[in-house]
Amino acid sequence: MNAHIALNMLSTPVWIVLPTRMEVIFANAAAKELSSGIDLAGLRHGSQSAHAEEHLAAYLPALRAREQVIEIWTVKRDGQTTPMSCRLSLLKPDLNTEEILVEGVLSSLPQTAVQPHGDQGGHGFYETLFHAISAPMLLIDPANDGQIVDANLAATQFYGYSREAFCRKYTWDINAAGREIVPIMHEVAKLPGGHKPLNFVHRLADGSLRDVQTYAGPLELEGRRLMLCIIHDVTEQKRLKSELENAASRDHLTGLWNRRHFLHLLENTHRQKRRNDLNYCLMLMDADYFKAINDQYGHDTGDEVLTLLAKTFEARVRETDTVCRWGGEEFIVLLPQTNLGNAASLAEYLRSAIEKTRVAHLPPITISIGVAQHQSGETAENLLKRADAALYRAKNLGRNRVALA
Ligand code: GH3
Ligand code: MG
Ligand code: MG
Repeated sequence: MNAHIALNMLSTPVWIVLPTRMEVIFANAAAKELSSGIDLAGLRHGSQSAHAEEHLAAYLPALRAREQVIEIWTVKRDGQTTPMSCRLSLLKPDLNTEEILVEGVLSSLPQTAVQPHGDQGGHGFYETLFHAISAPMLLIDPANDGQIVDANLAATQFYGYSREAFCRKYTWDINAAGREIVPIMHEVAKLPGGHKPLNFVHRLADGSLRDVQTYAGPLELEGRRLMLCIIHDVTEQKRLKSELENAASRDHLTGLWNRRHFLHLLENTHRQKRRNDLNYCLMLMDADYFKAINDQYGHDTGDEVLTLLAKTFEARVRETDTVCRWGGEEFIVLLPQTNLGNAASLAEYLRSAIEKTRVAHLPPITISIGVAQHQSGETAENLLKRADAALYRAKNLGRNRVALA
């Protein structure tokens, strides 16, 4: 431990911690003064503490890669409980041991924090921290129309503005909502911080738009109440999410909406009907003798026929109608704001269009259709049953025809 004695000369508080055992093995004089009577758990989990990892060993990969790791510890200074930023780095006294050196930064925030307006001096610890953190961060002055007071390195890289250019901009320059963001910003500025992130769309220097989540918290700097915003780009996540949602609602073969999505739409339409009393109809369609097509031409040709049916339906229904694959060789169309007469005309139009469709290597095909209009007080389930019964009737009457419920 002799090597550590020199650390006692430092006025900076310094601890040496064994990450695997979560144990302090050394504290210099300055550190002892700040942490007297407080153990490691108390320092890391006190009322003013904040950390990214529960267990110190979890930082080891980052520390080995010489990344900046910061924790806020709760210490006692002049009898007062106070937060203190600590910088963690790796010590390797021998090949087998890894120790973490924890350096406390005592200066109070307003003196060492980032100097607004791209001040060239003031390279304090906070300035280093502000720029070293890989998340884009902006310092905003809500009282001055949301002026951007400072931007860290990651923000200049993400947005594509220099730090100087940033300091001439306002939140509403980068927010796609424009000046409408100002009242929202004032609301956010009133919050105590630590809230859930808010979703916005930000515009980069090249004009492209990104979906971002911003974490904003109040920060007092030289008597000014500023707002520190941490920006998290979620564009890719959002795209993947909507792709997944879309995939879950689509039929693989035909690309039409699937039964799951149809039931969801039906529920919405049903609710709207109860509110606005707008008529709606269902059209249940089934390919005739489809099993024979599979048997004679093979399953792949059967698939081609199903895709052709899907395309034909989609091209011929109205914009407001939704065609879904109900399953197998059955399709269903939701017709909002439609009465039975109009639905029957559309059904007849589709039936005849399919009958007339001829593709060189595909067999001729016909469909049968059951049409039903929602009746007041009826459940969506019952409506589906009636459409199905009508379809059954169309089949029994000889197929290639439309039957009304
Ligand atoms: P009907 O006129 O009474 O409707 O007779 P059908 O032969 O069309 O009816 P059935 O229900 O007996 O047969 C439907 C066939 O559709 C059976 C099934 O193998 C086939 N099928 C279901 N899904 C697919 C699919 O995705 N691709 C292919 N190629 N065939 C499918
Ligand atoms: Mg069939
Ligand atoms: Mg069928």
